[in-house]
Amino acid sequence: MSDLERLNLKTLPPVPAIVGWSDRYSQTLLKKADTCLRSAYLYVKYSGGTPGHQLDRGSLAHLVYKRMTEDLIVADAESYLEPEFTQDQHGLLIEEDPETAARQIASMTATIVDEVAREHPELVVPHAEMEAVRIMAYHWAIGVKVDPVTIAGVERKFILDVAGHEISGIVDLCTIDGITGGVDDYKTSWNRPEQDDYEKGFQGWLYALLLAFGQPVERVACDACSGKRHVVQVGPENQSAEVPCSTCGERGSVEVRLPAIGGGLQRIRTRELYPRFLETQADGTLRLQQRENWLTRTQLQDFRRDLERLIAQLDGARETGLFPAVDGGHCNECPARSECPLPAHLRSWHGAIDSEEKASEAASWADVMGDRVAKVNDEVKRWAGEHGGRVRYGADKVKEFKSSQSRSVRKSQGKADWEGLKTAVARAAELGEEFDFDYWVKTGSTNSFRKRVLSAEELAAEMDGDADERMSRAYAVKWGDQIRKDQAKEDGRDLSLDERFGALPPF
Ligand code: SF4
Ligand SMILES: [Zn+2]
Repeated sequence: MSDLERLNLKTLPPVPAIVGWSDRYSQTLLKKADTCLRSAYLYVKYSGGTPGHQLDRGSLAHLVYKRMTEDLIVADAESYLEPEFTQDQHGLLIEEDPETAARQIASMTATIVDEVAREHPELVVPHAEMEAVRIMAYHWAIGVKVDPVTIAGVERKFILDVAGHEISGIVDLCTIDGITGGVDDYKTSWNRPEQDDYEKGFQGWLYALLLAFGQPVERVACDACSGKRHVVQVGPENQSAEVPCSTCGERGSVEVRLPAIGGGLQRIRTRELYPRFLETQADGTLRLQQRENWLTRTQLQDFRRDLERLIAQLDGARETGLFPAVDGGHCNECPARSECPLPAHLRSWHGAIDSEEKASEAASWADVMGDRVAKVNDEVKRWAGEHGGRVRYGADKVKEFKSSQSRSVRKSQGKADWEGLKTAVARAAELGEEFDFDYWVKTGSTNSFRKRVLSAEELAAEMDGDADERMSRAYAVKWGDQIRKDQAKEDGRDLSLDERFGALPPF
């Protein structure tokens, strides 16, 4: 009998129930559940996952932006670059000279970061990350413009009842301007999603839903303990003792739901802003790089139905203990990858890199392998060039030369001359000069060596050929690789990088 333990990854065994799982579902929890129910379970099991410098860096940066936004609201100013604002609020007269001005603003924002960090000693932000927060605060000061009268909340928590649960989320900045709402979210990491991915992203939709249909909440002093976090109880012999206040859970304050504010909104702009990066707008002014999406009330109602379904799924999983794991890019944000039931190689390595060291090792490996693969490919191509122009491989694939027509813009000093083209078009439009299309757009042909999957007809035509022999050759290569790996395991030695990834070309 084999001692191999079989694991069906589609129906994993149930997990132990978590005691005290709150019926309020946060935005972060639901975002995790939306992509992988198991990660939602791990998120609750570890109360949000391990703390980390990046997380604290994000929290500190958010507190800094909050402070800066509130300063603007109080002063009824649009931007940190308004001379009256910097003078009144920070006693700073911004110089004309751009370099001096930049230095002045940098030192002003560095002071703000320092103050906020001192107010929050619970945040552990090492020097290198502090430097990043300072740079981002400087970018914020020169790249953010707000309209104070439209601001409806800064770091404002919202609650919405959906499918028998309270859904909560904290919006970094929300605005209301007539029938248009806005929810902004700051992201302090280096990653910026593609526009398509951003538009599909769960977070923006949920924040928009909270603004349109939810209720803002506010914390007020707890009546039961008058904010003292404990109440005094008198015992049998008239002895009094302090006991923790159960009304506020020793927080000293309780949440109060305020009336909804988004009833009149017809459309909502969601944005993610990346304070690491600045970009120049058409009018020459700077702003933080950002992604945005527009959502209508109808779209949000559809989303609400998706949310109801998701919540029902999560509730069901809590009852049965069955939390399936589904991998993807989201594994990078998994609260406990080491407890993921999917082996890393079956997750396509998603989330396998979790430290600078590993990232660095993986980058070197990918570099070396990429180089080797490119060289082997060159050899395959050379061979094909001398033997009929194609290489048949695998069950249904072929690599072959394919020529195609290509067009490119005229080059200047090795680069496409877009500026030259723009000028020529402008001169043609404005001065009536002749525009020579063939001068600017070069047509040529390229001969590339490409992979292609064979059609059913091509495969059928091949059947009476030497297909059997080819298949067995392909399998021999594959299993030879496996045998090398098994052998290393039997010998009790670690696999070298080459062995682990089958790095040697099979010849
Ligand atoms: S590593 Fe990925 S697949 Fe595994 S639990 Fe975490 S998010 Fe889910
Ligand atoms: Zn209390």
